[in-house]
Amino acid sequence: MRRTLVLISLLLACTPAGATGNPVLREGAAHSVPLHGSLIRPYDAPTNPYAPGHRGVDVAAPAGSPVRASAPGVVSFAGNVAGNLSVTVDHGDGVRTTYSYLSTIAAAAGRAVDRGDVVGATGSGHPGSGLGPHVHLAARRDGLYFDPLMLYVGSSHADLVSIVR
Ligand SMILES: [Zn+2]
Repeated sequence: MRRTLVLISLLLACTPAGATGNPVLREGAAHSVPLHGSLIRPYDAPTNPYAPGHRGVDVAAPAGSPVRASAPGVVSFAGNVAGNLSVTVDHGDGVRTTYSYLSTIAAAAGRAVDRGDVVGATGSGHPGSGLGPHVHLAARRDGLYFDPLMLYVGSSHADLVSIVR
């Protein structure tokens, strides 16, 4: 598991950007990374739906960095919940992705988005975390949270394994 985290952390930092600056979809992956940055807090699976845990991953990036939809879908929520600006995209296959603790929202509920469309910008992250600017990325399948990094990896680690023991 530790090895997987290292690899995916490199993926977030090193995935090549396309001509538009958008992260590129890796071969075999369903989603592209929503932004490039350092993985500063991994997913921590709760033992049950109500237990504590970290239902997503935190990715550090300078405040105001664009956060992009990781795959096509329809915005099912865009708004403020108790001071947390967040956007949720329904990808139509039982998967929903959520982008949280944004500084601004650039998508409206009901709007269709393509992969790479900007849905918001990074903000200060989890209140009181002291982690610096970051975004919280979450994913649910049929309502159950899972590690969103699994969406981005794709079918091959070969290009990353060569630089990690
Ligand atoms: Zn988080």
